[in-house]
Amino acid sequence: MIEQVCITILPEREKDQSFIQNELIKALEKKALGSKELASAIKGALGGKALASLQTKAPGGKEASGLQTRAPGEKTASGLQTNALGEKAAFSLQTCAHGEKAASSLQTRAPGEKAASGLQTGTHGEKAASSLQTDTAVAKTAFSLSAGTTAEENISFVFSKKSLDARHGKAKFVMRYDVYIGEEAPSQEDLLPQWKSVKGSKCKSVLVVGSGPAGLFGALKLLEGGIKPIIIERGSDTKTRKVDIAKISTRGLLDSDSNYCFGEGGAGTFSDGKLFTRSNKRGNVGQVLRIFNHFGADASILTDAHPHIGTDKLPYIINAMRAKIIELGGEFHFNTRCTGFITSGKNSVDGIKTLNTKSGEEKDFFADAVLLATGHSAGDIYELLAKTAPQALEAKTFAAGVRIEHPRATIDAIQFHGRKMPNAAEYSLTSQQTGSSKTGNAASYGKEDERGVYTFCMCPGGFVVPSATESGTIVVNGMSAAKRNSNWSNSAVVVETRPEDIPEKFKEMAKKNGCPALAGLYFRSSIEREAFLQANTGSSGYPISGGNSTGSDENSMEGQKAPAQLLEDFLSHKKSPQEKLPKTSYFPGITSSRLDQWLPDQIARRMEKAFKEFNKKMKGFICGEALLIAPETRTSTPVRILRDRESYECCALKKLYPAGEGSGYSGGIVSSAMDGINACSKIMERI
Ligand SMILES: Cc1cc2nc3c(=O)[nH]c(=O)nc-3n(C[C@H](O)[C@H](O)[C@H](O)COP(=O)(O)OP(=O)(O)OC[C@H]3O[C@@H](n4cnc5c(N)ncnc54)[C@H](O)[C@@H]3O)c2cc1C
Repeated sequence: MIEQVCITILPEREKDQSFIQNELIKALEKKALGSKELASAIKGALGGKALASLQTKAPGGKEASGLQTRAPGEKTASGLQTNALGEKAAFSLQTCAHGEKAASSLQTRAPGEKAASGLQTGTHGEKAASSLQTDTAVAKTAFSLSAGTTAEENISFVFSKKSLDARHGKAKFVMRYDVYIGEEAPSQEDLLPQWKSVKGSKCKSVLVVGSGPAGLFGALKLLEGGIKPIIIERGSDTKTRKVDIAKISTRGLLDSDSNYCFGEGGAGTFSDGKLFTRSNKRGNVGQVLRIFNHFGADASILTDAHPHIGTDKLPYIINAMRAKIIELGGEFHFNTRCTGFITSGKNSVDGIKTLNTKSGEEKDFFADAVLLATGHSAGDIYELLAKTAPQALEAKTFAAGVRIEHPRATIDAIQFHGRKMPNAAEYSLTSQQTGSSKTGNAASYGKEDERGVYTFCMCPGGFVVPSATESGTIVVNGMSAAKRNSNWSNSAVVVETRPEDIPEKFKEMAKKNGCPALAGLYFRSSIEREAFLQANTGSSGYPISGGNSTGSDENSMEGQKAPAQLLEDFLSHKKSPQEKLPKTSYFPGITSSRLDQWLPDQIARRMEKAFKEFNKKMKGFICGEALLIAPETRTSTPVRILRDRESYECCALKKLYPAGEGSGYSGGIVSSAMDGINACSKIMERI
């Protein structure tokens, strides 16, 4: 029998294992009072003994009748850890290279210390035992009650979710546990997929275009079915990409193939790595988290209500995934941009044309199917499809706006009501606003004019980053490191933009180019280009180099300064004096600009109203230090690549499987990963 119990504890009690165990037992007892079935299951599992009788036994007894501590998802260990209350000693389960449990011993170590065994390196091919050792706080609060002789007679409490409740009074942690009564809890390792080696075998192959979450998780799925993934990625590996990204921030130089959005791991690599998704129905969220954990993400992502990895850790996890795929016989081709589809017969895609962006070499690749996982920044892919099969594309609602940055202390003070908390505070705000510029008459705005204005991708203790993919444009986004400890907290504030909201001139342009679905893409680009001109144009009227660049050509399209305005000035429609702009985390630099004036009216007017509403929900949100940096245009794609609901195959091109954020069917790391997995499951059924 599986039950759930939930306890609420003060943060200072988080590491008090004995207290937590007692609270859990009390919670289970309370639940059993209301359920005869549960009460009898507990009795059965404990050989007739009552929970209370076990509770009184001292933890750490070596016989099987005391409290047994274990890591979440791990089978009950055969030995017991001695953990004197209040002492510094923590524990880790000692496992051998292939995830088998060591016969009887448990290793003791101080919290935060590295484990003595070599398991923390998480060598590829080994089952990851490292996750058990990285989060002792989590492991310490999972335990089993054992009174009988077999594992099936145990009651196991497995930590499943932790969230922070900071609404009233003192902030508390809400901790949920799965309770396995009379049955063994599954181990993390049992739940992981089994990947097959395709090395040297004559097997089917699939071209995976794009190595973002959709591409990488899709490639791993293909390996489950013994299909070889051939990954084609326009950008560089993470090591080279880091250098390219540094050039954007320090010299305003943008490589259109290797940047914050393009390169190994996709847009997710140098991101916050927030793994929270509401798309639970689209797939197995737990499986995506387990795979991230297997490749090196902290075990806390398995239990945190709002899990996040951090930009400092993500590249290593992505590298571990690549190493595994290669070890099993998959291929990676970096700096290789897909430039065309090779079609035959009835619009069937047999392969792709590519260009090596470093050597200039052109090469054709062929396979049994193509997974198109190029993300929503790949405008060239939409243009390519518009030429090959315009009927494959459909205009879709997207969102555009700005990033707002506050000092972290301001947001923490608002959210935690002045209380000191270990984490940087998060927020999420939504509203519906009218503001169409069509009528220009506020009184006539009706329900049909309402659009969502909402915060998105909030980065507590984070940074605003330059995430354009073309020179001569500015796009901002946000990220944070694992510790979320920068001096700022930022979030996107974006306005829902429907196909009918696109200004006529872009619709005309798209029609003229033979694909009306591209209107939103043109609108998006126009905002990004205007932002560049606003922030990187000198008095000569020519674009100048920005950031800390030195010696660049006056007429070059370099420069990644972003246009910015104080929120208070945005609301009172005036320019912020450049010298009054606050210190920002946006490294390339900011230029004072009238965002209220040049951002499309339908966006600016609605944001204005929304900010005032947000300030009622979060008093102090509008303040002298709040800074708007523009534009945030890449929260979702303005174009959908139509695919069959059941087969995931592109409606207009056979053997082409659009997946991930660029397809328009997912958004964010986890949902894109699940979409890649789902698409590849369909490919596996068909080839
Ligand atoms: C700075 C930043 C922070 C973010 N933070 C978060 C977050 O905290 N949480 C979250 O859930 N989401 C976040 N996102 C969004 C998230 O990264 C995306 O939703 C996710 O990466 C989409 O996955 P994908 O695989 O569909 O596409 P992408 O990750 O965009 O990957 C597409 C890949 O295709 C490659 N490609 C494109 N065109 C071609 C071509 N012609 N030929 C070959 N390869 C090509 C690209 O180089 C890229 O590697 C963030 C995004 C950014 C930019």
